[in-house]
Amino acid sequence: MVEAEALVVALLAAAVVKLAQRRIPAAVFRAILAVGILVPFAALFYAMWLLWDEWIGWRELTLFLGLYVLTGFGITVGFHRFLTHRSFESGPVLRFLLLGLGSMANQGRCIDWAAHHLKHHVYSDREGDPHSPLDGLLHAYCGWILRGPPADRNRYCKRLLEDRVVVLADRLAPFWVLLGLLVPYAVAGWRGLLWGGLARIGFTNHAAFAVNSLGHTYGSQPFETGDRSRNNWFLALLSFGDGWHNNHHAFPAMASHGMTRRQFDPAGLAIRALARLGLVWNVKGAPAPYATERRLRLASPVRGNEAPP
Ligand SMILES: [Zn+2]
Ligand SMILES: [Zn+2]
Repeated sequence: MVEAEALVVALLAAAVVKLAQRRIPAAVFRAILAVGILVPFAALFYAMWLLWDEWIGWRELTLFLGLYVLTGFGITVGFHRFLTHRSFESGPVLRFLLLGLGSMANQGRCIDWAAHHLKHHVYSDREGDPHSPLDGLLHAYCGWILRGPPADRNRYCKRLLEDRVVVLADRLAPFWVLLGLLVPYAVAGWRGLLWGGLARIGFTNHAAFAVNSLGHTYGSQPFETGDRSRNNWFLALLSFGDGWHNNHHAFPAMASHGMTRRQFDPAGLAIRALARLGLVWNVKGAPAPYATERRLRLASPVRGNEAPP
């Protein structure tokens, strides 16, 4: 009963915020929505604390974190940096594995994911961008999934449709999602399914939604990329480095999104480790001026993809 009331209150609050969107200052509106997006993260950990030893224990927490890390790397290293931006090359087995792990995060088929994301880069924060916060932060957060038409695979991902390994991983998407639920169930029963399956999928998706919306709203913008992309350390932590989003929009093909020592980028470090093991190659670095100085401080605002002044 309490949950039903809370849900009604939340829906009413969302409706009021939506209606008032045009009447309150933009900064206040952004702050309200940022809180709305960040609170579920805190709520999840509070629920874990409350339910400790009753509905969750170390085994479930390990499943939750372990699968969050594995499937998160599948999204950032596999879907994003490899499949969409061709930041590196790899053999068929690792390709299939990375795309399988990403598919377990339940963010749709990998080729659709790449098509949507490439469309985002083409029209970033302009007409045609599938998830720009300029169309409303709620829309950028998750509304776009329900509203927008699917991105055209043939237009954005023609090369991927010719890769048999990628097409197979794409077709097997429902199987991967099922596997991501069955594994934690096999390890820890219903509690495993709840935390290692459902809660983990919810958390991963929430982190991705936050990058799409808050990553174009809050943070620093060292590069003039012509859009609203931002570098945000909190989002970078949640998304294994994809939160260095302004760097990424400036140099989309670059394998490491963190460009200074202080910009922690686990996915970039993983790609470098895989390269050292000989499992991936042709890893794309920063453009020459940044490659030689990338460990130094970034230059003050410069236009993306051009040499610094
Ligand atoms: Zn973006
Ligand atoms: Zn991208």
